[in-house]
Amino acid sequence: MVILTRVVARPVTDPMNSVNAENDALRLAIAGGEPVFPDGPPTWPPADDDIRRVLQAVWADGSWGRYLGPHRTALEEELARQFQTPYVVAVCSGTAAVELALRGLRIGPGDEVILAGYDFPGNFRAIEAVGATPVLVDISPKTWAFEVESLDAAHGPQVRAILVSHLHGGLAPMRDICVWAAQRNVAVVEDACQAPGANVQGRPAGCWGDAGVLSFGGSKLLTAGRGGAVLTRDAQVRQRIQVHSQRGNEAFPLSELQAAVLLPQLKKLPAHNQARRAAVDRLLEQLCDIRGLNSVQRDPGRGEASFYKLAWLYDPNACRGRSRADFLAAVRAEGVALDEGFRGFVLRSTRRCRIAGTLDASRAAAENTVLLHHPVLLHPPESIDSVAQAIRKVVSAFQRN
Ligand SMILES: *Cc1c(COP(=O)(O)O)cnc(C)c1O
Repeated sequence: MVILTRVVARPVTDPMNSVNAENDALRLAIAGGEPVFPDGPPTWPPADDDIRRVLQAVWADGSWGRYLGPHRTALEEELARQFQTPYVVAVCSGTAAVELALRGLRIGPGDEVILAGYDFPGNFRAIEAVGATPVLVDISPKTWAFEVESLDAAHGPQVRAILVSHLHGGLAPMRDICVWAAQRNVAVVEDACQAPGANVQGRPAGCWGDAGVLSFGGSKLLTAGRGGAVLTRDAQVRQRIQVHSQRGNEAFPLSELQAAVLLPQLKKLPAHNQARRAAVDRLLEQLCDIRGLNSVQRDPGRGEASFYKLAWLYDPNACRGRSRADFLAAVRAEGVALDEGFRGFVLRSTRRCRIAGTLDASRAAAENTVLLHHPVLLHPPESIDSVAQAIRKVVSAFQRN
C-alpha cells in the first residue's frame, strides 16, 4: 500500500473578518500571503510497504550486493510482458538506453537521426555520442511532439533513424511515424522515459519502434534512483547491445537491488497511471477557462497518456507581460512543484545539426513551457483542487496588476 500524506489547503475565508480574510487569500505567498500548500509539494518516491519488504528480502539474501541474478531476469520478463516486446535489456540509465538503442540499430558516423527541436537534452548528445548528426524538426504546439508532416522536409539520403519522445503528457503519432519510416527504410527509436504505461494508438508506449527506451531515474514514474531499459522486437538489436556492453564485464547493467525495487512498482503502474489520469482530468477541468495557460492536448484518438509531467504553454502577453520565471516563482511559493521545461535545441550551432524547416513551436516551448511534477497527482482530490486554486490565484493576480 502506498501511504500518501494528505495535503489540504488552509481555509481561505474567516467568517469573523471576511474582507481581510479575502484579501489575505488573494495575496500571493511570494508577496507575504498564506501559501496554498504550507508544507510544500509532496516528495518522491512515497513510503511504500511493498518496497520496504523487498529491501528487507534483498538484505536477508545478500542479493543487494550483486548485479546479476534472479531479480533482473524477473524484471526483464515482467517488462517484456507489460510492454508486449520480446526482448528487454535492463541498463544503468535512460540516457545510456537511448545511446545503446542507436548502437543496436547500427547508427554511426555519417548517419543522420531526426529529432524534435524540443526534447530531452541527453537525446541530442546520444546521437552525437554514436557519431551521427541530429536533424531537427519542429514540434506541434499542442502535443510537444512532432507530427508526421514535419518529417518530409527532414528526409535525405543520410537519414537512418528517427528518435521520437512522448513528453509532458503529450503523445506522438507512432502509427504514422512508423509507416513513414518503414517506407523509407528508416529505423524508429521511441523514447517512453516520460510515458511508461501510456497507451499510444492501441499499443504500449515504447513498443512501436525498432527500439523503445525507458528510464528508472530518481524522479521518474518507475524509479530505482537510476536505471533504464531498451525494448526491442529484433533479436539482432539486442545482440548488438549486449556485444557493445561487454567490456570483459558488463559495462551498463542494472543491479539486482535496482531490479528488486522496480518489480512492485511495475505491478502498480497501471493503477497509478489511472489515478494520475483522473487527477489530470480534474485539474484541467478546473483550469479550462483560464487565459494565459494552454494545456497539452489530450486526444483520446491518440491514446491514454501517462503523466510524469503535465505541460502548459504559458503566455506572458495574457499576464501583463510577467515572465515565465516570475510565474513559476509565484506558483512555487504557493507550494506547488511547477518547473520550466527543456531548453530545446533551437540555438544549437548548425555545425552540430541540420535544421529542417522552421522551429517556431520548439522555440516557444523552450521559452514558455511550464510543467507540473507528478507526485501530487496521486494525492486526494482536494489536493488537486488546491493545485488548481494556487495556479488560478497566481494567474488572477498577474492579470489584475
Ligand atoms: C529522463 C529522460 C531520459 C533519460 O533518462 P535518465 O534515466 O535520467 O538518463 C530520456 N528521455 C526523456 C524524455 C526523459 O525524460
